[in-house]
Amino acid sequence: MGAAVAPLLIQDVHKTYNKHKVLEDIGFTLNSGEIFGLIGLNGAGKTTLIKIMLDLITCENGGIEIAGISARDIQARKNISYLPEKFQPSRYLKGMEYLDLALSYYGKTLDREAARKKAMELDLDPDVLTARVGSYSKGMGQKLGLVGAFLVDASFLILDEPMSGLDPRARIMLKSELMANKRAGKTIFFSSHILSDLDEICDRIGVIHDGKLCYIGTPKDFKHTMHDESLEQAFLRVIENGKKEAA
Ligand code: ADP
Repeated sequence: MGAAVAPLLIQDVHKTYNKHKVLEDIGFTLNSGEIFGLIGLNGAGKTTLIKIMLDLITCENGGIEIAGISARDIQARKNISYLPEKFQPSRYLKGMEYLDLALSYYGKTLDREAARKKAMELDLDPDVLTARVGSYSKGMGQKLGLVGAFLVDASFLILDEPMSGLDPRARIMLKSELMANKRAGKTIFFSSHILSDLDEICDRIGVIHDGKLCYIGTPKDFKHTMHDESLEQAFLRVIENGKKEAA
């Protein structure tokens, strides 16, 4: 039997915007069925990396494979569910219409009962699915995006700052949903700067600072290596060390 193909393989990725190095020599592999969290301050390069993974932008060097297929190949995106940062669906669509559209991209038909159930699981009142998105709050729009992302039922989920805009109860429910997806064998990659959320649910984390991957491993080992109790403290120490090295 051959070795299992990694859901994500990133090799030697470099990206520059207007001579400004945004990503430098990024490389790592995801294991099948793990929850991986990418941590970094605003502007660290998280979204840029995600956009390269989805071939929304290109990189100068290196490459990315999704389940053994080059990220440049449209086939690589067939089994990915992606939620962008600060997601807001079109305000003119009703919730159900948005979900119908999202599933149609994957050749799937919307099961309205399943959508109502998923909405409840993500702390979104299912009755609002018949209302226009224009009447939703920011958090409700984010939750609708998450409902769609999970209903697609892809084997690899890429979520850019999925916790942003969610209140504590919705964050707890999202974490349960992520754990349930992991138990179902899905691989999850998400970015966040809410460190406590990552600590709880991630098998491994990657710390990105100034476009460089400063750490990759378990949250437990990260805290241990940094001799700190909390992930927050360990993270700050890495950032401070990075600043000293750059000075
Ligand atoms: P993060 O997601 O970690 O907040 P980003 O990947 O969005 O960070 O941004 C990383 C850096 O790249 C920032 O300095 C940002 O200003 C810059 N950047 C992002 N997109 C562009 C762009 N289209 N043109 C020029 N610079 C950009």
